[in-house]
Amino acid sequence: MADVPAECNIKVLCRFRPLNQSEILRGDQFVPKFQGDDTVLVGGKSYMFDRVFPTNTTQEQVYNTCAKQIVKDVLCGYNGTIFAYGQTSSGKTHTMEGKLHDPHQMGIIPRIAEDIFNHIFAMDENLEFHIKVRLTKTNLSVHEDKNRVPYVKGCTERFVSSPDEVMDVIDEGKSNRHVAVTNMNEHSSRSHSIFLINIKQEHVETEQKLCGKLYLVDLAGSEKVSKTGAAGAVLDEAKNINKSLSALGNVISALAEGTKSHVPYRDSKMTRILQDSLGGNCRTTMFICCSPSSYNDAETKSTLMFGQRAK
Ligand code: ADP
Ligand code: MG
Repeated sequence: MADVPAECNIKVLCRFRPLNQSEILRGDQFVPKFQGDDTVLVGGKSYMFDRVFPTNTTQEQVYNTCAKQIVKDVLCGYNGTIFAYGQTSSGKTHTMEGKLHDPHQMGIIPRIAEDIFNHIFAMDENLEFHIKVRLTKTNLSVHEDKNRVPYVKGCTERFVSSPDEVMDVIDEGKSNRHVAVTNMNEHSSRSHSIFLINIKQEHVETEQKLCGKLYLVDLAGSEKVSKTGAAGAVLDEAKNINKSLSALGNVISALAEGTKSHVPYRDSKMTRILQDSLGGNCRTTMFICCSPSSYNDAETKSTLMFGQRAK
């Protein structure tokens, strides 16, 4: 069908958002110093990534640099995963989703949705496509309705035939979250959001089949539990999130070290889910999202260190 893509590797990209209004009003310092297009200096230490995006980088530049090729690869039958990692409010959702219906501010997922359908319309008419998307929010599995009957919410799966239908699933995911949070006494808003795009194609004459899937993961905020002032069930959930993030870090760093080392996929539910779309022949990209503010110095350093482990 199309070109065979280059040898697989894990790409780690770092993105800094601008200072926000309240940080400016508080008089926070703008910490990062950008050097070339792959290095950032924070607190006298330099951190190198495959690419560093300074605060003025547009959504389109981010997409063209790192997601566009993955879409082509998935249409050639490869699997892939794109993650966004960082503390709450560092720009993860902005990077993955952005403003869904705004052509300038939309993030990676809506651009991927448009790109996939554009490619398909340009492809061989004898190819039949089945595209399924699934949105899972990890902390929204079981809820109770007003009669105290438990039901599962937070997972939406459906076949789609246009970019708008992809966007609808994300919009529904947002309203699910809202309902779930306001209906529960004690609930944090921290969860991993895992969006799967599954593409099956079949040639109508030869019946030759090709499958590719792409996971787009907006990870739960990576901030330390102690800082959030959580207690009880929320504290337990926060500990679980931190455990699953460190399990992910271990998997990525084992993959980055090379195929000889043991890859601990089974250490968390999320890495088990992502197993066949991480490492091996897969396209894996991790966004390391950071705040530029001196107020978030400690979290920013720990986020940058997490990203360095994957190199
Ligand atoms: P997170 O998902 O990591 O908690 P968000 O993506 O919601 O963080 O970002 C927090 C706020 O900062 C949002 O209002 C978002 O629009 C804004 N923001 C994040 N990244 C950028 C950026 N690169 N440029 C402009 N605004 C941004
Ligand atoms: Mg978010």
